[in-house]
Amino acid sequence: MREYDVVVIGAGMSGLAAAIRVGLAGRSVLLLERHEAPGGLNSFYRKDGRVHDTGLHALTNYAEPGERRAPLNKIFRQLRIPRETIDCNPQRGSRIHFPDRSLRFGNDPTLLEEEIASAFPAEIDAFRRLEEEARTFPATDLRSTGLWARPFLEERIADPLLREMLLCPILYYGSATEDDLELDQFMILFRALYLEGFARPREGVRTILRPLLKKLKEVGGERRMRCGVRRLVPAGDRIAELELDDGTSVRAGVILSSAGRVETDRLCGLHPPEAGNLVGRLSFVETIHIHEGQPADWGWEDTVVFFSRNRPFRYRKPEDAAVDPDSGVICIPNNYEYPEGRALPEGIVRVTAIADYDRWIHLPEPEYRQAKEEWLERLTAVGREVLPPPRGEPGPVVATDMFTPRTIEHFTGHLGGAVYGASEKKKDGRTAFRNLFLCGTDQGFLGIVGALLSGISIANRYALAIEGAAAVEGAEYL
Ligand SMILES: Cc1cc2nc3c(=O)[nH]c(=O)nc-3n(C[C@H](O)[C@H](O)[C@H](O)COP(=O)(O)OP(=O)(O)OC[C@H]3O[C@@H](n4cnc5c(N)ncnc54)[C@H](O)[C@@H]3O)c2cc1C
Repeated sequence: MREYDVVVIGAGMSGLAAAIRVGLAGRSVLLLERHEAPGGLNSFYRKDGRVHDTGLHALTNYAEPGERRAPLNKIFRQLRIPRETIDCNPQRGSRIHFPDRSLRFGNDPTLLEEEIASAFPAEIDAFRRLEEEARTFPATDLRSTGLWARPFLEERIADPLLREMLLCPILYYGSATEDDLELDQFMILFRALYLEGFARPREGVRTILRPLLKKLKEVGGERRMRCGVRRLVPAGDRIAELELDDGTSVRAGVILSSAGRVETDRLCGLHPPEAGNLVGRLSFVETIHIHEGQPADWGWEDTVVFFSRNRPFRYRKPEDAAVDPDSGVICIPNNYEYPEGRALPEGIVRVTAIADYDRWIHLPEPEYRQAKEEWLERLTAVGREVLPPPRGEPGPVVATDMFTPRTIEHFTGHLGGAVYGASEKKKDGRTAFRNLFLCGTDQGFLGIVGALLSGISIANRYALAIEGAAAVEGAEYL
């Protein structure tokens, strides 16, 4: 039976980053992925001659390549990948849209400050203090404060509308729990969204995946696609071997799993009573419209719009419908600052909204297709209501697509189609077994940058036992 220093489960962003770190340290590493495509939640697919990203709206934590201390640049330094290869084109500008107020923000935090000073003059000093707290928050500390964002915000921002507006993008871009999130994640996302901002590689997520795969190969990492882990076989307090989908087994000194917390427990044959409550309740649908032309030409100039059509803003699994159309995210990937003459060839409008996994998962195929058509139409109408009235006619729609909770579960194995994973994170990555650790979504760092950070931190700490890191509980691991 083959034996490796480290086996990593899942070739999403966190698994790739973890495997690269192990390879860079000269240890043997095997990366196992159940699907044929790498990237996990952030992958891509081809349809009718076009390449669609599955996830990418925005790479968060935008930083210029020269900013050495910026999280984005630290991450690529740790992976020994030149940051320039990532082709970060900054956003033009995003917006939080509520029924009677709107706030613009961009990669320069002064825009949001000016917007708040104008729309909520009594709150601007409190907001500036909050920015300072987020700037100095120890973002990569693997300990949890155990606090929640809403009560923390209530102590700092008096106006409930401003609190809801600030929370809306943060919940949408990384909360596994309904209507609130842990303070640690709030602070990480506050910095990622409002202080640093968004960027996008012109070719989409492939531009991020390509150098990761190349680096893994360079450092001698072995990658097996279409080869999932069927079972983790315990022996006492350790995992003795991994049984693979192809019927073979391997052994590893350390196993890092990005499959998810409950999912990893199940691979070990564990079914703790709290598991049912831990499976995340938040899943999403997303519609994609491809138009002829550039959306900015007919007045749709925002990069990302986070909207709530009602108050109070709800970030919850819908109770009486397959989708909640009252809040969501609209992303227009054309509206990044691409180099002169390199605009995307077609207009792309993506509308994301919260969906009820249970209502999608059991539908027979004809009803499933019908539900997709119905929601495609309804979310298109919502997008039209939230975006500014077009100047003239928008370019004709030449293609559409849509993914649902069923798509997410199928391609990532995340139970409940839960994009942001379990409702309780395991920040220290530990499991019931001494040589098995969680990385990625359920370790608690979310999004592309968060997942990469998680893979690096967990590999540094447990697979490489970087002495300084292991010795200083809760210290920064980057
Ligand atoms: C629609 C959508 C839009 C998003 N937009 C953005 C965005 O704009 N910006 C951003 O920063 N983030 C975005 N995200 C979030 C981001 O994609 C995730 O937070 C991040 O990619 C998670 O990475 P991960 O490595 O933790 O997990 P995953 O990507 O879920 O990777 C886990 C991998 O493990 C594999 N796996 C599971 N079980 C097994 C097994 N038993 N054996 C082998 N392999 C297994 C899965 O197939 C999967 O490939 C989006 C997500 C979605 C779904």
